[in-house]
Amino acid sequence: MQEHSDDIIEIQILHTADMHGHFMKYDYALDRVYSIGSLAAIATKVQELRKAYPHTYLVDTGDTFQGNYNELFQNHIENNPMTLLMNYLKYDTFTLGNHEFNYGIEYVYRIMNALKMPTLAANLYTKQGSRLTTPYVIFHQSGIRIAIVGMVTPNIIRWDSDHLADIVVRTPLEEMKHLWPELEGKADLYVFANHQSFHDFYMLGDGYEQLIKRYPQFRLALISHSHQKRATRYGDTWCLQPGVHGSDLGQAIFRFKKQGDRYEYLSSEARLISMEDVTEDPNALAMVASAHQLALDDIRIPVGRLVGGNLIPHPTIKKMSQAQIECTPLIAFINDVQRHYAESDVSLATLSHLDANLIEGEINRADIVNMYRHNNMLRVYRICGWQLKQLMEWSARYFNQWQEGDLTISFEAQIPIYDYAMFGGILYDINISKPIGERIEHLRWPQGGEVQMNESLTIAIDDFKAKGFLEKDLFSKDSSVQLIKDYGFGYKEDGRIRNLIIRYIQEHAQGIISNEMNTRDNGFRLTGYHWEESLHQEAIRQLNEGIIPIPESDNGLSYHTRSIRKEDLR
Ligand SMILES: [Zn+2]
Repeated sequence: MQEHSDDIIEIQILHTADMHGHFMKYDYALDRVYSIGSLAAIATKVQELRKAYPHTYLVDTGDTFQGNYNELFQNHIENNPMTLLMNYLKYDTFTLGNHEFNYGIEYVYRIMNALKMPTLAANLYTKQGSRLTTPYVIFHQSGIRIAIVGMVTPNIIRWDSDHLADIVVRTPLEEMKHLWPELEGKADLYVFANHQSFHDFYMLGDGYEQLIKRYPQFRLALISHSHQKRATRYGDTWCLQPGVHGSDLGQAIFRFKKQGDRYEYLSSEARLISMEDVTEDPNALAMVASAHQLALDDIRIPVGRLVGGNLIPHPTIKKMSQAQIECTPLIAFINDVQRHYAESDVSLATLSHLDANLIEGEINRADIVNMYRHNNMLRVYRICGWQLKQLMEWSARYFNQWQEGDLTISFEAQIPIYDYAMFGGILYDINISKPIGERIEHLRWPQGGEVQMNESLTIAIDDFKAKGFLEKDLFSKDSSVQLIKDYGFGYKEDGRIRNLIIRYIQEHAQGIISNEMNTRDNGFRLTGYHWEESLHQEAIRQLNEGIIPIPESDNGLSYHTRSIRKEDLR
């Protein structure tokens, strides 16, 4: 630990990221204790580590004010439990995450005003060319200069384009070309505090890797966004990423040794500290007690009742939802709600997370959040049969092509579960033995008749996927894809799909829904695979018992990324 020599100075950087509203060890969507972590637990640890290392900087890299029901506190941002605790802990910098932009740019400005530390997002500009925030801060500590630079993933343009009409976003690589000449020689310790994952995801340079390669002067890169855990070296750079929901606190220590009248870099170390067994700071808990009660009261408001069974059957294979491989009442239900309010012909919906479900019995608001985690708004577009088909093919690329000998179905590693769209108001087969682009078969209307490629139709879709799938990925240059209605404008809370689900249960279904739902009108079937049933069952057993590890993606976001084959069986 500390060397007690006047010649050596230790600088400690503490890092939090992707806390997504976890101010207390409580999951409001599940209405139960969440032991993994919280900002109140981090508070305990930060105070302890500040005593051990007097020269400490506490840095958050975003996705702080969204998730775990945080939107409940939007209107009083000063009293938002995340604001209260970040100010109480005297964070040194805060970098905007992509989710901070979900509620519009005005909300971002309100967050910045309420926080008492500088907000960073060096790569954001107004149309007039001025920066939205401070690009970096240089701290001075006993003769050592510490530069902390913060940028946000350029994909905010993909997800929140309509909130960012007046904002210009540079990629972090491009931004650094301008920033580095300004920074060079100005600090003894350079720190990246960006809201970015390590690997690229949607585009070249939206991840950290290139940046770290080109700027090895940065001895620390605080990684976020992909919710992973790491404390590893990449060349001379420490890469620190503290998981998600306050599960871990990142700690990096840099030692400098006095040489004449200045300090030279000597050594460094970095680690993650788990919050699981850390007791929450009582002062922090007292500050957020009323917010906790407010959230509990709200999520426990009854919505209705589900009879007949859960909306997704119990999973056959661990880390795989039945909704990924069969048409389930849950997806059918979301599609029905969307079609009902959008008055559209078809609808698309995705599973918001692996454990999403609606459980038989009394339903309250928390249950709806757990069933539909995202805060999306409903939209309606007019498209043609061939565009629908193209969209469906594009979505069906989610499945790895089935090969003779595969004993399980598997999914493309790079596509997160919430990007696999399933369609309602229409019937179809997905032939997974076919190559990408040729998989949708027997595309037909439930009332009979094939879907014609030149037929005009309307589709209900949430704004998040509309902006990604329709406007960026597939039809960015196709003006015939026409936005008819955006519930985000004017309808406000009434346009949120979660609220529409509640309204549907209460008004349309008179408070009672059944799991025997509309899979008749919302049906897809996977075809093109076969296996010997006994071998398939054996593969399932070995996966479920941990005899064969469940294949997962490098980014840790997807499971069953390749099929289990006979030769994998032990
Ligand atoms: Zn996040």
